[in-house]
Amino acid sequence: MKIKEAVFVMSNADAEKCPEPKIPEYAFIGRSNVGKSSLINAITGQKKLAKTSSTPGKTQLINHFIINEEWYLCDLPGYGYAQVSKTEREKFMRMIRKYIASRENLMNTFVLVDIRHEPQQNDLDFMAWMGEKQLAFSIVFTKADKLGQGKASKNIAIYKRQLKKQWEECPPMFISSSETRQGVNDILDYIEDINGY
Ligand code: GDP
Repeated sequence: MKIKEAVFVMSNADAEKCPEPKIPEYAFIGRSNVGKSSLINAITGQKKLAKTSSTPGKTQLINHFIINEEWYLCDLPGYGYAQVSKTEREKFMRMIRKYIASRENLMNTFVLVDIRHEPQQNDLDFMAWMGEKQLAFSIVFTKADKLGQGKASKNIAIYKRQLKKQWEECPPMFISSSETRQGVNDILDYIEDINGY
């Protein structure tokens, strides 16, 4: 899919006020600093559409962008902030889960994990929840340019082994880099396929 246009629609703290679910939507989520904003910018071909972590005052909002006037890209807030209390983190996760579970036009959630790290409990918990609720998700291994091919394959194999403890089948997986644009077209083609263009 070619991105002809990517336009910011709105930021919301309140899931109820998000744009009407009239067109297909694809969400991106992951721990803070996983490279989510950079990937969204790479996907949309815009340098500053999603605000990267270095932006001061970055808040925990649900951001919607409309792509090619055809689908929504939803930038969900990063989770796992060490600076926030456990109670706040739990409240925050409840809000996100409620959004994902009730958003009727949500076709797929891309869960981003840093390819350099071993499986993290909060990512696994989140995926387990998605699985239990039968919500479609895929895993995107980010920052692939930071590892050699051998180490990257090894880390992905570790991840798959971990997931197979719980499920027979792994979800679709993508390997991405916002630096080299590796995987960007794969993600777009996947979205295009689901949308049925
Ligand atoms: P977010 O908090 O998940 O939105 O993460 P950001 O997109 O702000 O990225 C966090 C940091 O990782 C920034 O310093 C980015 O420049 C860096 N980063 C993000 N994606 C990549 C990538 O694919 N390759 C490399 N080398 N660095 C990346």
